[in-house]
Amino acid sequence: VKIDEGKIVELGQNIVSSRNDETIDCRGKVMIPGIVNTHTHLAMTLLRGYADDLELKEWLEEKIWPLEKRLTADMVYSGALLGCLEMIRTGTTCFVDMYFFMERVADAVKESGLRGLLSHGIIDPPNKADKERDRKRTLALSQYIKRLGEPRVRFILGPHSPYTCDQDTLLWCKEIAEKEDTIVGIHVAETRGEQARSEENKKARVVDYLDRIGFLSDRVLAAHAVWLTKSEVKLLGKRGARVAHCPVSNMKLASGGVAPVPEMWEASVPVGLGTDGPASNNSLDMFETMKMCALIHKAYRWDPTIVPAQRVLDMATIDGAKCIGMEKTIGSLEPGKMADIVLVDLQDPNMIPVHNGATIVSDLVYSANGNNVDTTIVNGNVLMANRHFRTLDPPDVIQRVNKSVTDLIGQ
Ligand SMILES: [Zn+2]
Repeated sequence: VKIDEGKIVELGQNIVSSRNDETIDCRGKVMIPGIVNTHTHLAMTLLRGYADDLELKEWLEEKIWPLEKRLTADMVYSGALLGCLEMIRTGTTCFVDMYFFMERVADAVKESGLRGLLSHGIIDPPNKADKERDRKRTLALSQYIKRLGEPRVRFILGPHSPYTCDQDTLLWCKEIAEKEDTIVGIHVAETRGEQARSEENKKARVVDYLDRIGFLSDRVLAAHAVWLTKSEVKLLGKRGARVAHCPVSNMKLASGGVAPVPEMWEASVPVGLGTDGPASNNSLDMFETMKMCALIHKAYRWDPTIVPAQRVLDMATIDGAKCIGMEKTIGSLEPGKMADIVLVDLQDPNMIPVHNGATIVSDLVYSANGNNVDTTIVNGNVLMANRHFRTLDPPDVIQRVNKSVTDLIGQ
């Protein structure tokens, strides 16, 4: 593969390099497109392991939200750097994020060399003045990212969910997304309780409600989408909405159901994979998410063919790119696309053997884990080579994180 000006310019045998080119020896490694994590809350690395084995409602209301009230911009910056470090280490090159103090996440992404689509998470405050202030935060993030002038960092909208944002807020997000030509990430139908409360309060199921108010479109990236009827799935397809499937988080928080991914495919809904935040996963390792995705659907449907390895690898790469409207620029290794490339080491014990080179896709999904990643390249820049980081300094990041965790939670 020849890379120039951040793009893949040539693929094949006998590529001629010039003297100034950096050459990376790929022998004993497999090259894959950079992985796209379509849903996370990066800075929640700080809360990793803090509140495990709880139900979503209790987890959010009693553990996570009270702590998040005490977060500072500096803490979020530390958490985001740690998240970037972990993503580079495990082969994720592009991610979709929703959180607070996102300007500092943008800084971290810029420094790390990764690609990030960033939204300020909107949870409607009870009064109008605070609501206005929250909208200003979203607009300020958009301005900040414009000033940053780094094409790898993109602004998106992030209304938290249909149960924490009212109709007004949701439609405002839609309007801004159209104006800024970007997407809207939102949590949709994560639990059965959410559906029950929607039917009670809004007299409609979650997706039906979102359609009724005119929110659904091909700019919507719905995270989770676990508790859906077939007609809701079809509606998503009809409106061109996309889904970020987060199997590990759904299992850990015991959402109870399994997202109807095969039905989504049938309804032509692009489905990408997401880790969700590191507090409900607890890692950002998309290899782990790939395996869990393949397994959960097999176990649930009693059918080992329902979600095959190639399809899962596609979900983590090209389908993820489709979810964010970037399938023309990333998600596969083709001349003309951005050089977002990952090398996986086939000399690691858990990657041996590869039978006649033919089982490599299965090996990547079922045998590999993120620590088998050897080299991570984004936009033609090498962020990690031979497991050595080039843009971030791990000891520095870890020191920052430890200080932030002490300030936030105490010893
Ligand atoms: Zn989430």
